[in-house]
Order: sequence, then C-alpha cells, then structure tokens
Amino acid sequence: MTNMRMTKYLLNNLILIFILFDLVSSYPGFCQSSENEIDKTVEKIHKRILTVDSHTDTPLNLMDNGFDISKMHKSTDDDSKYDFPRMKLGGLDAAFFGIFVPQGARTPAGNAKAKAKADRLFDTIYAVLDRYPGLAGLAVTPKDAYRLKRKGKRAIFIGIENGYPIGNDLSLIQAFYSKGARYITLCHTKNNDICDSSTDTVEFTGLSEFGENVVQYMNKIGMMVDVSHVSDKSFYDILAFSKAPVIASHSCARSICNNKRNMDDRMLQALAENGGVIQMCILSDYVKTPDPNPARDSARMELRRRYKNYETLPEAEQQNAHKEWNEIDHKFPEKLATVAEVVDHIDHIVKIAGINHVGIGTDFDGGGGVGGCFDVSEMKNITKELVKRRYSTRDIRKIWGGNLMRVMRKVVRVSRKLNPPCNC
Ligand SMILES: [Zn+2]
Repeated sequence: MTNMRMTKYLLNNLILIFILFDLVSSYPGFCQSSENEIDKTVEKIHKRILTVDSHTDTPLNLMDNGFDISKMHKSTDDDSKYDFPRMKLGGLDAAFFGIFVPQGARTPAGNAKAKAKADRLFDTIYAVLDRYPGLAGLAVTPKDAYRLKRKGKRAIFIGIENGYPIGNDLSLIQAFYSKGARYITLCHTKNNDICDSSTDTVEFTGLSEFGENVVQYMNKIGMMVDVSHVSDKSFYDILAFSKAPVIASHSCARSICNNKRNMDDRMLQALAENGGVIQMCILSDYVKTPDPNPARDSARMELRRRYKNYETLPEAEQQNAHKEWNEIDHKFPEKLATVAEVVDHIDHIVKIAGINHVGIGTDFDGGGGVGGCFDVSEMKNITKELVKRRYSTRDIRKIWGGNLMRVMRKVVRVSRKLNPPCNC
C-alpha cells in the first residue's frame, strides 16, 4: 500500500469510528451510564477525603427548642438546611457551626448582652453534642475531624460570626477559644469596635486600633482571623497586620458577581500571597446578581420597617422576623443560582489565586442555598460538577477542606513561634 493509500485508509476508518461514537453516545442509555460512572466516582471521593463546610448558622435553629438535629428534616417543611442525617446523606464530614450575634449597641450594656447571647449559643451546641455522642463530636483541631470521620461521626467545629461579643475585652478572645471557637469573623453587616464592615459607612477607614490588637491577640493564641464581611480597606489592613494566614469563611468572587461582600481579583491574589483561603459561599445573591423582584423587595422593606432596630428586639420577636422573612421568600420566590454557577466562581478563584486557596462555606441556615444544592443533603452535587469539569481527586480534596485544614495548622504553628517556650 502506498503512503497515500494508507493515509486515506486510516482517515476513512477514523471517520467511521467518529460516526459510530456519535451514534452510541446519542443513545439515552449511554449518557445514563456515564452519569452513573460520575456518581460512583463522587461516592468514592467522599469516602476517601475529609469534607468541611466552614460556615453555617445552624445554632440559630438549635436555639429553637422544637428542632431535633438527630432527625431528618425537609427544608420545604421548616426551612432548615442542616441536621446530622442530611449531613451524612450529603457526604459532609465536618462543619463550622456559627455563633452568630447581630451587631447591636456598642455600649457596655450592648456588649454584655452580646456576650450572653454568644454563651447561650455555645451552650446550645454543647447540649446537642452531649445528647447525641454517637452521631457527632466537637472538633477543635484538624486531627479531631479526621478521627471523628473514621468513627463515622460528624465533626462540629465552632466559629464566631461577628467580633461584637468580645466588646472591648481582649481576654474574651481567649475565653471563647477555650470554649472551642477556632475563628472569629471580625464584623458582620455593620461596623463594630474592631473594623469597618463592607456594608456600612466608613468609620475607621479599615481596622481600628483595638482591631489591630484583636488580630495580634488572635495570632498569638492560634485562632483564625475571618475576613468575610469586612470592608476592602479592613481586609488590606488585616493582611498587613496578621502574622498568620487568614480565611474568608463565606465569600465569593466579585468579578463574577459584583457584590461588596465578595472579593475582587486583587484581593484574591493578596489572599493567596498571605497563604490564606477563601471559602466559596453558596448564598444565591453572592453567586449571581438576582433578577429584579420588586414585589419581594417592597415586602422585605415593609418587614424591615416593622422590625426596626432588629438587634435590640427580644429573641422571640427576632424569631418572628425570621419566620416572616422566610414567608416572603416563599411568596415571592427568586430564581436561585445553580451549582454550575457556584463552580464558575471556584474556577475563577483557582485561575486567579490558585487551587491551594479555595474551599466551601455554605452559609446554610443563614440564607445559603442554590438550585441543586439547596440544603446539606445535596452537597455531593458540587463534587459532581467538579468531577465533570475534570478536577482531580487531589484538587477536590483541597477544595473540600484540605486547604482550610492547612491554614488551621499553620495558624497554630505561627502562634507557637510567637510564644517561644520560656527558659526561666
Ligand atoms: Zn455571614
């Protein structure tokens, strides 16, 4: 056979193979079997790796006496997004339960009230873990989480959302650390004595003097500094001041969804240089800009007007406000972002900051939830999308908690360096 004839022969066969592949792959059973293969891969990955969600507001539900976290709930029934059976179903091994205290008056009385609320939330978490020792346990180190996973139990870490409960007393940081908290989100939606928030007016132009002491103190005792919610200027101040890597426990990429709560590309690069990690938030409004929904907006506005000064209201009133907020969401549903759009953010962060600086922090029970991952039982859908986009198991391990656990260990190592053993 001449070279020319040989080439023609090979080309014809190649075309035939392509036609056959096209025919087979268009047969419905083919896609089904490749979907099944992906599902099997996802199951294997979740068995092999530690999966960690760095932010949930579930303790707020636990304060509601009727809520039993050991039972499987339906988010369509009671708006809850988390319980132990659903964590297991979603292949989620560990979660940081948030001690969330909304910003109130920055006065001695306000600070005392905030601390009391934080203490009650800690007690609520302990009570649940005491009640169900066979289902879950407290984790304060990465080792604890791996040990609990091996025993088939859920690992519950604790993080504090809003530094408000420490008031002006640095020693309370140590007190909360001793109670098991391993990060503090320095502020929430309003400024506090520590720093400016991304959603409030400029007060300190970043970190306050007290805030500098807070960061320094957290570095010293080995507690992670969380930059979610802080203003851009606060973020850069914190990076300049912190001797340890920092985390953003629940934030997204601003160049994909333009929201002040998200981080722009320059911030993502700075975070990578700091050695920190941004935990992708799956709250729909941070994932994609919501479509206009004037009826819902005006209902929300009316509710805000009725529950003015929310932070100062008695707890029962606050719970009513929550309930009504959820009712509005049901009445005027928004078109939620999708899992694919969540992974678009991960793709972008990987491109800008690198695979070692991204993770997942859902904000479930605090507004989190997208189409295809509406509660914790659907967490594997994120892994499925990552597998479809050809992320390796090694990369998925990093995203699902490896990066966050690395930062946690590093923060402890830095604290040891800052506290050399005494030779006296
Ligand atoms: Zn938050």
